[in-house]
Amino acid sequence: MYTGQTEQPCCLCDDPETNVRIDIFPRAVQLLKHSDPIAWRDIEGEVSLHFCADDWDLVRELVEEMGMSPLGRCNAARASMVFREDFEALLNDVRDEPDQTPLERRLREQAETHVESYGDDPHVSERDYVEGWIVLDALDELGLATAEP
Ligand SMILES: [Zn+2]
Repeated sequence: MYTGQTEQPCCLCDDPETNVRIDIFPRAVQLLKHSDPIAWRDIEGEVSLHFCADDWDLVRELVEEMGMSPLGRCNAARASMVFREDFEALLNDVRDEPDQTPLERRLREQAETHVESYGDDPHVSERDYVEGWIVLDALDELGLATAEP
């Protein structure tokens, strides 16, 4: 049954059939391929990346066996993201852009919990672990890993 929840194709190969989704924070969009035109500061909420079954296997392998983030291979144009309303962006001075830090803090806390408890907590899936690893790696890459709220 098609649930209509997947708006975007696989961010690695463009396959419209995807079965895994992970969420990252907007600032991490900078680490994606072809992300230059995207104003990540104007993104509302999480950014979702979708993967087909084959590419999810690749992503798991990269993270779990090689300790490498797949983000640099993911096409930003195939990520799902919501931008705040254009009129709002026009009315606001650029300095009034939405504060991204609460979301980054929330995703960091969730990622830390998932990475730490994977294997012990049956509610933490492999997907949760891989997503958490990617989020923590992205925070580190962007120099946010030790940033205190
Ligand atoms: Zn794919």
